[in-house]
Amino acid sequence: MLTIPDAVREAFGGALSLLLPAWCAGCDAPDAVLCADCRAALAAAVRAGRPPRTLSSGIRVHAAVEFSGIPARVIRAFKEEGRTGLARPLGTALAVAVGAALTSASAGDDVVVVPVPSSRAAFRRRGHHVAELIARRGGLEVARLLRVDAATADQRLLGRGERAANVAGSMRARGAPGVQVIVVDDVVTTGATLREAARALEAAGATVRGAAAVASTSRVWREGG
Ligand SMILES: [Zn+2]
Repeated sequence: MLTIPDAVREAFGGALSLLLPAWCAGCDAPDAVLCADCRAALAAAVRAGRPPRTLSSGIRVHAAVEFSGIPARVIRAFKEEGRTGLARPLGTALAVAVGAALTSASAGDDVVVVPVPSSRAAFRRRGHHVAELIARRGGLEVARLLRVDAATADQRLLGRGERAANVAGSMRARGAPGVQVIVVDDVVTTGATLREAARALEAAGATVRGAAAVASTSRVWREGG
């Protein structure tokens, strides 16, 4: 069933293009949040798949696509330009990665999907948690077991070692004893954020069965996590 905002958007799609960004996030074509060609390119990248990557902490990460080209442009437009209409196609990609993570972990119905929370500064800037919004738009049920417990610097400004130090000890989990978890995030670069999320969840008694992301960078891929 359509919610009221969805119904309004359907009914006034043309008129809303006056208010919403009217160019494609992937290729700048006019009159589309994401044009048919870029939507197809994103879907093809998801179908092509990526092999899972194992972080140094042993967590297997399934990413739907490589963080490059059209998928990277779409993710940046969503995160940096506030184009929340892109959360749905990104969520569809994330749901595929979560499916792969569940299959890989031979995980049953008792596994919960836990999104990595955005930093405090990022949440203040955007008004939502990126991974949670993408997961929800992808039709995933999520459990908000993690919260950011300490202020952190913007990871994008930091190098690999600095990123790990920046997020270490920054998260706390609650309601986690005995819970089986797949952790989800939007983009995996060094893996530092996922490792911190897993540390916090396991410190609170959860078992992390794997992780999933919309995209993963190939630079870190070659470095092996
Ligand atoms: Zn396009």
